[in-house]
Formats: sequence, structure tokens, C-alpha cells
Amino acid sequence: MRFPIFKTKIEGLDRKFNLIDPREQKEYFQLKAGKEIEKLREYLKENSFIAYLLGKKNSGKGTYSKMFAEAVDPERVDHFSIGDMVREVDKELRKEKRLQPAHHPPASQAPIISFLEKQYRGFLPLKEAISALEKRNTETLLPTELILALIKREIAKRKKKALFIDGFPRDLDQINFSLFFRDLIGYRDDPDIFILIDVPEKVIDERIKWRRICPLCQTSRNFKLLPTSKIGYDSKKTTTHPPPSHLRWAPFYLICDNPVCRGAKMVSKEGDERGIEPIRERLKMDEKLMERAFSLYGIPKVLLRNSVPKKEAEKFVDDYEITPEYSYELDKKTKKVKIIEKPWQVIDNEGVPSYSLLPPPIVVSLIKQMVEVLSL
Ligand SMILES: [Zn+2]
Repeated sequence: MRFPIFKTKIEGLDRKFNLIDPREQKEYFQLKAGKEIEKLREYLKENSFIAYLLGKKNSGKGTYSKMFAEAVDPERVDHFSIGDMVREVDKELRKEKRLQPAHHPPASQAPIISFLEKQYRGFLPLKEAISALEKRNTETLLPTELILALIKREIAKRKKKALFIDGFPRDLDQINFSLFFRDLIGYRDDPDIFILIDVPEKVIDERIKWRRICPLCQTSRNFKLLPTSKIGYDSKKTTTHPPPSHLRWAPFYLICDNPVCRGAKMVSKEGDERGIEPIRERLKMDEKLMERAFSLYGIPKVLLRNSVPKKEAEKFVDDYEITPEYSYELDKKTKKVKIIEKPWQVIDNEGVPSYSLLPPPIVVSLIKQMVEVLSL
């Protein structure tokens, strides 16, 4: 399964953009997809769509769809992930339980339960399906029928909005459901689209390995690929020589940019240093799911490709669209941290030396392909 490379380079255009800066990002979208953005805005005034995002865990599903909404029309485009939905429902259930003193109506009259009593159809009794949700862990899948009922509820909350759904279908049997989902939910006759995202596993691996999180505001950045504007240096932090690869930069750390956090030191989450190791099975399943979806007839597909072979890069993309890699050095004299930036080279799944694209060019490709599949 290889996706075509999408050309975002405009010949003869010298302007460079700093794609991390939100204002420049906006100008960039105007310049590279202004016409298509206009068409989509016009379309969304009266219409919507349902797009299923399929890609490996950490392939950027949330990032791309949120950036699409931001660029096109945040009022009319929404994104929701099944993972977040399940966590929210769980919270709601707990809250409802806490609010149930003995003399009050039984839990079955709580809004979410009564909704499910009306909407849920499945092979497990509703009670068991709900308790599967409460006891869920990442290994076991929730009953598809319960997920379907809950998605229906989510969609009803977002009337008239175009939707990106992240996390459904999650298993092979759910693909068939997704084909008829539009009909199942009946009251919406929107076009439905599969969006497939192809990202080299090496990219996912490094996204996890170098992830840093602010302990105060939970903002997530990447030490190697998406640093904060200020980098700290802890001279007391020593390590063995040569250090193990994940501790190579141990004395340096990211400082949260959020002013509320007052220079908090960002930290890595336990286990992240193992990268994709713990999720290999999940990634294999995601791959199968994508292959199956890729081979479907009759449903429009958008193909997003994160990497470009090094040899082809010049033809297809501009330099500033490539993800840089950052490293750090301490200037002995001034005691300031120097940030060194260079293009990041990754080996893709077929062993080809490649560059990984920043989110904006991938969103340009998404915008243009959406215009095409919606025949605008
Ligand atoms: Zn913070």
C-alpha cells in the first residue's frame, strides 16, 4: 500500500513560511489552497460530511482534522475521537451514580442510561455492555453496538456540522458498519469519506520517544521535533559516557511556553522511551484496517502521505514544509543553550531515506482532495 506523493510546491514562489507560527500558517493556507478553502466554506454553508480517519496510532489524525477545521471553518467542522467519547461517557456515568441517593429515582432514569435504553441494540445485555465500558482497558474492544449508539448520540449533539471521526472503525468488523453508518443514522444524508493516513513507523516511534509533557498544563511537545521556545540546561545532570541514546540530551530540557506555568520543566512519561515497542500489535491491526479500507469500492477516499523520499522532495515540496530535527549545545562562554536545526531524515517502512512533512502541507493535500471527492 503506497500512497501517491502530493505536490504542494509552487514553482517560482520564493516566499518562505515559518509554519509553527499561527499567523504565517494562515497566510500559507491562503496562498497554497485559498481557492479550495473558499469552495469548502461555500459548501459547508448548506451541507456537511462525515469523514472517518484511519491511520496508525499517533499518525496525527487529531492534528490534521483540527488544523483543517481551523483553516476552513471552525464553526462548521468538528472532530471527535472515540477514545475521548468513551472517557466522557464514563465520567458521566460516575457522576450520575454519585448523584443517586437511595430515595432518588434509580440510575436507569439518568439521561445517558435512558438514551441507551432507547438506542442500544446488541448481543450483550445493556448492563454488561456498560460495565465493559467502565472496566475498559486498551486491550479489550468495547461492543461495537454500544459504540454505535454512543456515536449516534455524539452526532446528534453536533447537528449540521461536518465531522471527522477518529477511532471508528477500529476493528475489521466495524468497517462494514461504517459503510452503512450514514444510513443507520438516517436523518443525515451527507457524503461519507474515508481518510487514510500513511506515516512511517519510524516517525511514530520518534514522536513517542521524544515526547515531553508539561506537568502543570499537560501540553505535549517533542524534544527532538517540536521544542518549546526556551530550552533549559541542568548542569548537575550528569550521565555515563557514552550515554544511552534516550539520555543523550539529558542535561537539556524543554521549558513550557504557557505563561501560566512559569517556566515549568517538561518531562517524559514513563515508558515513552520504549517508543512503538509496546503498541506493535495495535499498529499491525491499524495497518490491516487501512488495507481493508483502501480496497473498498464505492466510498470516496482521501490519501494522506506523511513522508516524501529524499530524492523526490525537491520536486514535490518546499524546504520549509519538511519537519526539522533539533539538537542542543551549551555555549561555554555565554552559558546559553544553542538550538541547532537541520532537516530530519527518516527511513520509511520500505527502507527508503525520506523526509517527514510538517502538518500544514498535509492539510493542504487534505483540503484539495476534499474539494475533489466532494466534486466542488
Ligand atoms: Zn505548561
